[in-house]
Amino acid sequence: ESLDQGLQKTKESFLSKIGRAIAGKSTVDAEVLDNLEEALVSADVGVDTTVRIIERIEDRVKRDKFLGTSELNRLLQEEIANILVDAPQTEYRDFEIPPGKKPYVIMVVGVNGVGKTTTIGKLAYNFKKAGKSVLLGAADTFRAAAVDQLTIWSERVGVPIVKQPMGSDPASVAFDTVQSGVAKGADVIIIDTAGRLHNKIHLMDELSKIKRVMNKIIPDAPHEVLLVLDGSTGQNALEQAKQFTAATEVSALAITKLDGTAKGGVVLAIANNFKIPVKYIGVGEKMEDLQIFDKVEFVDSLFS
Ligand code: GDP
Repeated sequence: ESLDQGLQKTKESFLSKIGRAIAGKSTVDAEVLDNLEEALVSADVGVDTTVRIIERIEDRVKRDKFLGTSELNRLLQEEIANILVDAPQTEYRDFEIPPGKKPYVIMVVGVNGVGKTTTIGKLAYNFKKAGKSVLLGAADTFRAAAVDQLTIWSERVGVPIVKQPMGSDPASVAFDTVQSGVAKGADVIIIDTAGRLHNKIHLMDELSKIKRVMNKIIPDAPHEVLLVLDGSTGQNALEQAKQFTAATEVSALAITKLDGTAKGGVVLAIANNFKIPVKYIGVGEKMEDLQIFDKVEFVDSLFS
């Protein structure tokens, strides 16, 4: 799906909430601002981000004295874009790998059900399409279904996978994968991990063990730790991001399932709340339905 299609529900709900916030008013007054604040919070933009947006609009209202509600949408779009200027964004705008980092190792983390396996499949598809050779590693050895699902994706996309029997040591799978990737001359290695946030210490230990064994082969691996979040859970995704980033060094975020939800405003909250860039967004179940997040495009399509 295109970004516009993928964000359809969020956009409709977002714009209609704003519409209701200003209904029957010709100028932006305190009541309109109150309503707008409520509308943004209920659109999952997050309290911090909403307060910043409202403050900026208040300033504009003071400066301009008379501000018509007809101008509010444009103003809102500008101010949302303005606060996102400082949000981190990744340097790599396409499926290229940074120079000198071959194989580029991506470790994917996130709790079960958020769309981790699907995102790995989509990433593999995109890297392959960009002419890169890809190898997958099934280091989520706790769920048989995880290995099966990843195997299905590897067949669908046509990329090899390294796996071991269920219950094997995830670090051993990661080691095998990196070793095999180096031997094969792979460009990109993507490693799935088990996301069990309910046991934070265990998770930290496991991820650091995976990292340690990889480092025996590639000292600066993983080059990317990608946290996958389910955008359709709204503020829960924000909460999960807080917990995960406290438990491990996450370097990029992927927000999935933005199609079929009206809670896409959470992307703004996440982009604005973390020093970690949102790198990818998922807008469907198919392999084509992954996009590189662009904050300007995202805001544009919310208002177009
Ligand atoms: P995992 O347990 O985190 O590995 O989750 P899966 O990758 O198995 O995904 C869980 C469900 O979410 C599956 O039914 C996927 O098809 C679905 N899913 C994943 N990403 C997206 C997305 O961007 N949009 C939609 N609509 N569904 C998605």
